[in-house]
Amino acid sequence: MANVDKDPVCGMVARAEEGFIVFHQSKAYAFCSDLCKRTFLADPEKYAAATPASTPGDADTTRRIAYFSMEVAVDPRMPTYSGGLGVLAGDTLRSCADITIPTVAVSLLYAKGYFDQKLDEWGNQQELPVGWEPSRYVRLLPVTVQVPIENRSVVVRAWQYDITGYTGYSVPLILLDTNVDENTPPDRELTASLYGGDERYRLAQEIILGMGGVRMLRALGYTQLQRFHLNEGHASLLTLELLREQRESAPHAWDFDSVRSRCVFTTHTPVPAGHDQFSYDLVKSVLGEPVPLELMRMLGGGERLNMTLLALNLSQYVNGVAKKHGEVSQEMFPGYSIDSITNGVHSFTWTCDSFKKLYDRHIAGWVNDSFSLRYAISIPKSEIWEAHVEAKGRLIEEVHRRTGMALKPDVLTIGFARRATLYKRTDLVFSDPGKLMEIAGTVGPIQLVFAGKSHPKDEPGKDLIRRVFHFARQLKDQISIAYLENYDMELGRLLTSGVDLWLNTPLRPLEASGTSGMKAAHNGVPSFSVLDGWWIEGHIEGVTGWSIGPGLTNHSDSDSVNGRDAQELYHKLRTVIVPMFYRDRDRWLDIMRQTIAFNASFFNTHRMVQQYAANAYV
Ligand SMILES: *Cc1c(COP(=O)(O)O)cnc(C)c1O
Repeated sequence: MANVDKDPVCGMVARAEEGFIVFHQSKAYAFCSDLCKRTFLADPEKYAAATPASTPGDADTTRRIAYFSMEVAVDPRMPTYSGGLGVLAGDTLRSCADITIPTVAVSLLYAKGYFDQKLDEWGNQQELPVGWEPSRYVRLLPVTVQVPIENRSVVVRAWQYDITGYTGYSVPLILLDTNVDENTPPDRELTASLYGGDERYRLAQEIILGMGGVRMLRALGYTQLQRFHLNEGHASLLTLELLREQRESAPHAWDFDSVRSRCVFTTHTPVPAGHDQFSYDLVKSVLGEPVPLELMRMLGGGERLNMTLLALNLSQYVNGVAKKHGEVSQEMFPGYSIDSITNGVHSFTWTCDSFKKLYDRHIAGWVNDSFSLRYAISIPKSEIWEAHVEAKGRLIEEVHRRTGMALKPDVLTIGFARRATLYKRTDLVFSDPGKLMEIAGTVGPIQLVFAGKSHPKDEPGKDLIRRVFHFARQLKDQISIAYLENYDMELGRLLTSGVDLWLNTPLRPLEASGTSGMKAAHNGVPSFSVLDGWWIEGHIEGVTGWSIGPGLTNHSDSDSVNGRDAQELYHKLRTVIVPMFYRDRDRWLDIMRQTIAFNASFFNTHRMVQQYAANAYV
């Protein structure tokens, strides 16, 4: 923003001329006119003290939206997230702060985080506890609340982290924590580990998030909340807390409509098995009956308490996270009305330094107006290439620092980083290693960079990592393959900006949205991906990248699907992608530029949050 002096009386542009400047208590004030200058001089204190824009701090409890999420990625040094869900929550809140959506967010503290990933030379994953000192990043609030867990009153305290936006407005993130002296040693651990422990531990965490979260917001004085946004079903128990609250003020009836009118639910999982469910035996012993069991069965399912069902039944607005995912969810839950709002990423957070400088030069105001990235279409291609070469250099340097491996700056570099779990098919590109070697040997050289953690209990996921290590060893004389440990936000930014091509090979329709390809698009990196999730919307063949396989499949026959997807992957690499990268750089650069103009301008959280405001929060 240009540094223009504003008249402190009327707020218009001041004249930078001698007669229009007044010194008051050794500070200069400039005015637009004699009228304003005289007005000021009549009562300087009144205008000198006034701050130009109100920037609410922690005392501002007039927030209307409460956003609940099991994980939130706010700072790369705070291990309060594991992957996509947390990154999305963080990006959402960063955009809310930028465009002043009056939101307060709730999550858990996780003093022991998720885990640090160590990989040995065979790709065996070892999980180490994460050490971090919360008090260096968040401040303790002087309020506690209690929640019933296994008939005990567990004390919950809260820490605050301010997510400050571009204009100085901030969104408070309230992190709940049970590590207080009053609690028993096991209860003190309840908020320590993200996605750790057994079902009992998980249910206790959801009680703390949902019920403890509502109680904490009340205790902190947030009295004007109009919407409760459940980011995935983990927060569903907040609906029971709202029901219970309502019952206290009107003891003779359960006011379902009142709760429903306040709740917004975003589902992220396209398979029934991905939805949290707890047996009623466990529910009775851990949660008790905040509302009668019969009512819980009515709202959350007869056999088990299904958190998705509970949220569906008590939310007036429900959405999936991409168009296709909305449709898949609608089929899964007929009888409910399920909309879709496609995910995005926070543009400023996921654009690397060299592209930030490039956009600063060509697209004024892009930081707070992601739509304007459309104008990237007229940035000279040579400057796009320069910015990309710089980003690629950074990645190559970091790969060398971490692994000792020397990747080559001129070689087509393919990136793949995501949670190592079966449906992501990390190893699809190695289905036929002979073919891959032949492409690299005869059409043009390639190199690959991987990253991703596997959940500690996901054995098939861990096996995927070992398979990548196996192929890296087998192919190492023809193709350099690096696997970087400890995929996190920092590495995510480095990878999605530093590679030439972003590969994604999920098994349809299991990728609800996917967001890392959107990060790549912000850095001019085209996607080469299976048509699932966001890519169905973002893909224009040969314009923003390339597809793998057809749009629709019956995924029951996954062996033949794997074979066919792999064949198409090799075929396009050989006939289209590798030749274009080496022999038609000009067309390649067209694609890079179109990727930014078409996809970064749309698949961002500024657009997404505005759709939530227009469709869900109204
Ligand atoms: C962006 C991101 C994800 C999510 O990527 P998907 O493409 O949605 O799988 C996961 N982990 C980290 C560290 C990220 O930065």
